[in-house]
Amino acid sequence: MGCVVIDLHTHSSVSDGTDTPASLMSAAASAGLDVIALTDHDTTAGWSEAAAALTPGLTLVRGAELSCTSPNGRGGTATVHLLAYLFDPLAPAIVTEQSRLRAERRSRLLKMARRMAEDGYPVDPDALMASLPPDSPAGRPHLAMALVQAGMVATVDEAFQFFLNSRGRYHVSRRDTPVHTAIQMVADAGGVTVLAHAFAHHRGPTVTAEVIKELAGAGLTGLEVDHPDHDLATRTQLGALADDLGLVRTGSSDYHGTNKTIRIGQDSTSPEAFEALVAHTTGTPLITG
Ligand SMILES: [Zn+2]
Ligand SMILES: [Zn+2]
Repeated sequence: MGCVVIDLHTHSSVSDGTDTPASLMSAAASAGLDVIALTDHDTTAGWSEAAAALTPGLTLVRGAELSCTSPNGRGGTATVHLLAYLFDPLAPAIVTEQSRLRAERRSRLLKMARRMAEDGYPVDPDALMASLPPDSPAGRPHLAMALVQAGMVATVDEAFQFFLNSRGRYHVSRRDTPVHTAIQMVADAGGVTVLAHAFAHHRGPTVTAEVIKELAGAGLTGLEVDHPDHDLATRTQLGALADDLGLVRTGSSDYHGTNKTIRIGQDSTSPEAFEALVAHTTGTPLITG
């Protein structure tokens, strides 16, 4: 086979991308990809639509990007994103944690909406809760949209700027899955985990190399080295770390459709690395159109 293009990190409109799972598959085929992973935030709700839309020769890796809380290696904590691939979404550990998270996200959103309503803003907490999609996680964007519809702000961005940001008076913190729990849960469900964009510092506090070493010991399989938010020096540093720790080096675009300027397949994973990842999995098979 000639040049194989493998992109292991993309988002559809099931989370915060703009392409539906089906149009994401056609975008992947048009861009000449051979393998694409669908990794929506904290949900597998796009898997079946993506699988049904596969074109001949395109292989789908069913996955998700899990928001987790981790020690940051400096005495505090950080939010980390864990790419989980080819796990069984019906495994008890996954189902239990997903339903805990869904309930937690909903009660958090309800608290924020109630705080705003108490202060006299035109937010109807019950109507908001009734409008949420049943099978994907509720989040601040849903409240932001309600504020736009109520005419409080012009855009979702303004809603975050004025009301919903983490320093604002209406903000309630999320309780994400501890990263060790997530690694174990995905492994128990026959999948593998890769730490996403670990050194993309502009996204907020990240973890130290020491923490990554510790996660490697706790069952992490791979490290996302080639990512649009990592510059060349960062890639060199993370690539060496992956080699040292025996982690599989992956590369991906983190494509979000028109929400970001990244091209699908802009960064990619080598066939050898891909094989090494898949070799560890038993939860959900690869499928090819
Ligand atoms: Zn991410
Ligand atoms: Zn992502």
